[in-house]
Amino acid sequence: MNDVIGELTPPQRLMLTPGPSCMDPRVYRALAAPLVGHVDPWFTEMMSDVQILLRRVFQTKNRITFPISASGSGGIEAAVMNPLEAGEECIVCVNGAFSERMAIIAERIPAKVTRVEAPLGRTVDPQDVLRAGKGRKIKFVGLAHGETSTGVVQRIDDYRKVADELGALLVVDTVATLAGIPLDVDGQRIDICFSGTQKAISAPPGMAPITVNARVEELMRARKEPVRSWYFDLTPTMSYWGQERTYHHTPPISLIYALREALRLVLEEGLDARCERHARNQQAMIAGLEAMGVMPLVSNPADRLVTVTAVKIPEGIDDGKVRQQLLNEFNIEISGGFGALKGKIWRVGLMGYSSQKGNVLLFLAALEKTLLDQGLRVSAGAGVAAAIHSYQQATQPAVAGAKK
Ligand SMILES: *Cc1c(COP(=O)(O)O)cnc(C)c1O
Repeated sequence: MNDVIGELTPPQRLMLTPGPSCMDPRVYRALAAPLVGHVDPWFTEMMSDVQILLRRVFQTKNRITFPISASGSGGIEAAVMNPLEAGEECIVCVNGAFSERMAIIAERIPAKVTRVEAPLGRTVDPQDVLRAGKGRKIKFVGLAHGETSTGVVQRIDDYRKVADELGALLVVDTVATLAGIPLDVDGQRIDICFSGTQKAISAPPGMAPITVNARVEELMRARKEPVRSWYFDLTPTMSYWGQERTYHHTPPISLIYALREALRLVLEEGLDARCERHARNQQAMIAGLEAMGVMPLVSNPADRLVTVTAVKIPEGIDDGKVRQQLLNEFNIEISGGFGALKGKIWRVGLMGYSSQKGNVLLFLAALEKTLLDQGLRVSAGAGVAAAIHSYQQATQPAVAGAKK
């Protein structure tokens, strides 16, 4: 008996954060499956299943498609370091902390990085990108599809057009969007696209699915210098995930099991239905929050990231106290703001398994009680009532162009 450290008993939380999201019981069961070796023929066979599933979710035929053994930030690292060589130029659309991270990583190569910025809560103007890059040799234009720090979504097609005019690659961070918002890697001609597993995919954190097209493969072969990171060099990793299955590093086997099951769940539901569910639940939640006087940070509804909603903390309300009460009294976790937005906004994630009607209604009721306890004058029940009304009104598809 170990009388120093007790048995591990985590609380049962409802994670309504920008990740990790809650997981389906099937994903927990996959995590507990017996471990095998990473070059065991059974495992190397199973790796192909994961790649097939990932290609379907990314909507791509790219050969190089696999989960990197690292969190979403490792995805940024790989996406930036593989195409870009020291001294080359890139443009990063910076509208928050995660797109800024992409710029910082590129600077460490060191590359010449031009940031094209937008105020917090807004999208970057593609014309600004074009003006910044005109007449220069730009290797890639990088952006966050969903900028989780501010709850903003950007229209990939607009940046693809600009990247084409500049003769540049398009690198897109879909950590917060893959499997929650429509994305079509081949159709939208994204050259390098990466994601994370703990957001709308609802698998454990610790992997970064990535996909890279033939044009990038070509560039990688033509590099003058090796990639400056051994671990994130995609070429040897791809020998492990490719035909050869040559050892590079030991992958997180149990996490790969879990990812396989989470991806199966995504495809069982269907991408269109899944995106529709995410949009519908966010619509109802925003209706409820607005009814309580908690307003979205992003003023243009079309720019709101469906998976993560940023809302302004009402005047006189203490950020920390509210989040603490939600956690202690209701086991609900939401997030605060980053940097300049710290203490000013809450970020509420409705991602993957967390995006459920019941969770929306529970959260609104819990927040209402909390805000009343903290002295805000809201009329009890207004938030829940508005959300119910939103669900009842919902006859049109919430996602533009979604199939019925
Ligand atoms: C969460 C997130 C990341 C970072 O992922 P980690 O798993 O925390 O490293 C990167 N980009 C975006 C858009 C994110 O939402």
